[in-house]
Amino acid sequence: MLVDAHAHIDWYTDALNEALDQIARHRIVTMAVAMDVPAYLKTRQIAKSCSYIIPTFGIHPWEAGRYTDTLHELDDYLRETPVIGEAGLDFRYVKDKGLYPGQVKVFEYQCAWAQRLSKPMNLHTRGAEPEVLEMIRRYRIVTPIIHWYGGPVELIEAYLAEGCYFTVGVDVLNPRIEHSIAEFLPLERILLETDNPDGYRWQAKEIGMPDLLLKILEKLAEIKRMPVIELEERLWQNWQKFGRGIELCSSDPG
Ligand SMILES: [Zn+2]
Repeated sequence: MLVDAHAHIDWYTDALNEALDQIARHRIVTMAVAMDVPAYLKTRQIAKSCSYIIPTFGIHPWEAGRYTDTLHELDDYLRETPVIGEAGLDFRYVKDKGLYPGQVKVFEYQCAWAQRLSKPMNLHTRGAEPEVLEMIRRYRIVTPIIHWYGGPVELIEAYLAEGCYFTVGVDVLNPRIEHSIAEFLPLERILLETDNPDGYRWQAKEIGMPDLLLKILEKLAEIKRMPVIELEERLWQNWQKFGRGIELCSSDPG
C-alpha cells in the first residue's frame, strides 16, 4: 500500500475523475490537505466518493489573513479533522512582512488546538524553519509532518528530535537538485508526498497526477539502495506508526 502524505485534491478540475481513478487503481492512501475553509469542505465532499482519501483541515499561511478576526469559526473543523494541515508559516514566498503577525496568530491558534486534542500537524515551514520548530516545541505537537522541507540542513536534527516525519516529494525527480535531504533522512521518519496537482508544475510545467508517487518511490529506492517493494513496505509501516488512531490509516480501505 502506498501513502501520499500531502496532496491538494480540491485543486483538480478537469482531471479530478482521472485522479480519483488512479488513487483507487494504485491504492494510494492520500492525505488531502486543505488551505482554507472552502477547500476543506470541497475536499470532504470529494472524499465521500473515494475511501482512500483522508480530508484534513488547516489554514495555510498564505490564507491566514482572512481568518485572523474569526478564529472561533474554525473550531468545529479543527475538532473534526484527524490531522491539522496544511498549516504553518511562510516568510519566504510571502514578502509583505506586515502579514507575518497574522500568520503567527492563526498558526498559534491551530497549534493550541493540536496540543489540546493531541492531533498531528502537516506543516509548511518555508523561510520560517526556526520559528515553526519553536512552535512545535512550545505546543508539544505530536508527530508533526514537515512537508517539502527546504530550510537549513542544520535544523533537521532538531526537528527529528521532536519526533517529526519529513515528506520526500518531487525534489528527488528534479535533475537540477544534486543532493536531496532524502539521502540522509532516517528511513523510519520518511513519508512520501506529491503536493499534487501543483507541486510538479514547479519543475515539469505539467500538473501532477497521483501516479507521480510511483516515480518518487522508485527514485527514493534508488537513493536508499533498496528494492522498491521493500521500501514500500517500510514506508507503509511508518504510516501505520504515524497514523495510529487516525481513521483509515491502519487498515486497507479495500
Ligand atoms: Zn501543499
